[in-house]
Amino acid sequence: MTAIAVLGSTNMDLVAYVPKAPRLGETVTGRAFRTVPGGKGANQAVAAARSGGEVVMIGAVGADEFGVRLRSALTAARVDTAALRTVEGASGTAHITVDDEGGNSIIVIPGANAAVTGLETGDEARIAAAGSLLLQLELPLSAVLAGARAARAHGVRTVLTPAPAQPLPADLLAATDLLVPNEHEAAALTGLTDPLQAAEALLAEVPEVVITLGAAGALYAARGSEPLTVPAPRVRAMDTTAAGDTFVGALAVALGEGRPMPEALRWASAAAALSVQRPGAQDSMPTRAETDAFAAAQRGAAS
Ligand code: AMP
Repeated sequence: MTAIAVLGSTNMDLVAYVPKAPRLGETVTGRAFRTVPGGKGANQAVAAARSGGEVVMIGAVGADEFGVRLRSALTAARVDTAALRTVEGASGTAHITVDDEGGNSIIVIPGANAAVTGLETGDEARIAAAGSLLLQLELPLSAVLAGARAARAHGVRTVLTPAPAQPLPADLLAATDLLVPNEHEAAALTGLTDPLQAAEALLAEVPEVVITLGAAGALYAARGSEPLTVPAPRVRAMDTTAAGDTFVGALAVALGEGRPMPEALRWASAAAALSVQRPGAQDSMPTRAETDAFAAAQRGAAS
């Protein structure tokens, strides 16, 4: 099995469904409320585990009820949580308002995630034992950088999702093997709205880039080869939450199995296309068998 380490965030998503989001000073009556385990790190860990990877999650939850639930959501997905610490105080939370048009606004309070400022005893060995390390930007940059450097020192592939978008220090980019921004993050990083131009600019910093393009698929670019666009399967999307995290988790598993990049991208696209047809974040992520069946049906339809 492909071994994957994730160094990243766990958040409880607190989702309020409202007809219209309140303006400053206004109170509105909402329709419903849900609490759902999330955080980009945990989402990628669950996606990789469902895709058939053997996954360890490195990070922290708080000493509260959310922390218990966040850990058990990972355990239920067969993610190893031995390196997920429980720290004093509150777990990370994301306060999400979704309106009737599907528009949302989000406040993230890092909570326990802010306590992850570097690697703890045993983390480097966990990273060294993996084929890839998945990183995002919901932990302090000092931890992300320490993880990327440890991975680099042990020849482990680093896959960085630069979200939420922010300027990236040169030493983090220098330790990144594969950068996977969406088109908005790619534009924020480069100042270029054309994905092809953005990809080319990013290749000055990292050897390989995948820019995800929503329903338009994904663009892959590597130094010294022609860029490749992999279209997304045509599906009826009902909730694109965590589509990018599903894509990254599945991609890491496929690459870890030694599958060539074009095939790995098609498989990850199949997994993400399945996830957008179901509600939720971690709940929407397909199993390996589901992705295999859907990817095979797509190949059949194309030939
Ligand atoms: P995004 O973060 O929106 O770029 O989406 C990440 C990945 O999820 C894309 O590269 C697609 O593979 C998949 N995806 C997102 N939205 C859709 C959609 N409407 N239909 C099919 N696949 C999608």
